[in-house]
Amino acid sequence: MLKREADPDGSTEPTVNKSDEEWRAELTPIQYEVLRRGGTERAFTGAYWDSHEDGMFHCAACGAMLFSSRTKFDSGTGWPSFTEPEVAGAVILRRDRSLFMERIEVCCRACGGHLGHVFPDGPGPTGERYCINSNALSLHPEDPQTSAG
Ligand code: FE
Repeated sequence: MLKREADPDGSTEPTVNKSDEEWRAELTPIQYEVLRRGGTERAFTGAYWDSHEDGMFHCAACGAMLFSSRTKFDSGTGWPSFTEPEVAGAVILRRDRSLFMERIEVCCRACGGHLGHVFPDGPGPTGERYCINSNALSLHPEDPQTSAG
């Protein structure tokens, strides 16, 4: 059913490497649970599921630029949802067979943090829905039209 293969092992080594103790000290408990433990926040509880602010969503752990508000859409799921990452290669995809499901996990390439999952039922030209935990993201408000500069 899933058409996309997860990235092969070997090209996904994080460049931001911190100890578990460091992450635990830097992140809030829920950020740590999501980003470092692969947890999922409860739907409709995060800061960004209903956000319509313009800006760039960065990784809450390492600050890497991940998703633009331009690609954000209202999915009705209670999690912020995007049609594609802002930067090609900013995320890595891994096959996830936990919880008796086959899903594709989305991780931050720079720090390896768990962000969410991607599903093949999105509205955009890619047909993808990146379902991301609010607690994995930090919104930097800015004009998305000029953020590239
Ligand atoms: Fe990161």
